[in-house]
Amino acid sequence: MGRIAIVTGGTRGIGAAIAGRLKTAGYHVVAVFHGNVTAAEAFHQETGIAVRQWDVSDYQACADGIATVRDMLGQVDILVNNAGITHDVMLHKMAPEQWHAVMATDLTSCFNMCRGVIGGMRERGFGRIVNISSVNGQRGQAGQTNYAAAKAGMLGFTRALALESAPKGITVNAVAPGYIATEMVGAMDQVLLQRIVAQIPVGRLGKPDEVARIVELLVSDDAGYITGATFSANGGQYMA
Ligand code: NDP
Repeated sequence: MGRIAIVTGGTRGIGAAIAGRLKTAGYHVVAVFHGNVTAAEAFHQETGIAVRQWDVSDYQACADGIATVRDMLGQVDILVNNAGITHDVMLHKMAPEQWHAVMATDLTSCFNMCRGVIGGMRERGFGRIVNISSVNGQRGQAGQTNYAAAKAGMLGFTRALALESAPKGITVNAVAPGYIATEMVGAMDQVLLQRIVAQIPVGRLGKPDEVARIVELLVSDDAGYITGATFSANGGQYMA
């Protein structure tokens, strides 16, 4: 197949499952991480997937990082904007830094990364972009005004870029997972998490691979008629 894919936050959690699925499907995959070198090296050793370190909230770092991928493998055909962080706190206690960090890493990163690949995709008449949003961007969540705003922003960004890009053979879609068993969820208050799981109709957390399978579909050559869509995978937690 030979298509080239970048998965941000691709060395842990949902991103690692996405990178693994795409590699198995025959894509050349580069997984981007930020600071956890130990996890990235372990992921590389285990999977053979190339890993690169840069901060997706930094515009120039994204431009430089994408250029190194291009030099190493060729033009980027597929971009999965998966990197994300949380800084959960009620708004009346939220520091500006907590707001800006989440907006920069979870939303501005989509601009930074898409800006770096979209020109080449337009020239070649092919591209697949998938943005990993969240059920909490669809319905809101107390303690997450920053995260919910960023993840909801991704959905508007997805639709606007889908409209701009459709005539050029590029699709842009979002996946909105519910609560998935990763380190991000493991770091949550466990009493709160148990309360949330009790409200999930299927009665359990999701698995990273249950998100990765959707991404695999959306990035395939066969998915050219799906664009501007949001795929929810939340165990029935939110009927949107
Ligand atoms: P994890 O915390 O397990 O992994 C996050 C990944 O993103 C890591 O690889 C991390 O790199 C990378 N990353 C974080 N910040 C940056 C940055 N500034 N630049 C580059 N890479 C960065 O997250 P999950 O797998 O749980 O979540 C993945 C995505 O799915 C996120 O966008 C999250 O918001 C979303 N999501 C998750 C849900 C869940 O229940 N887990 C539910 C809904 C949405 P490093 O290892 O170096 O820190």
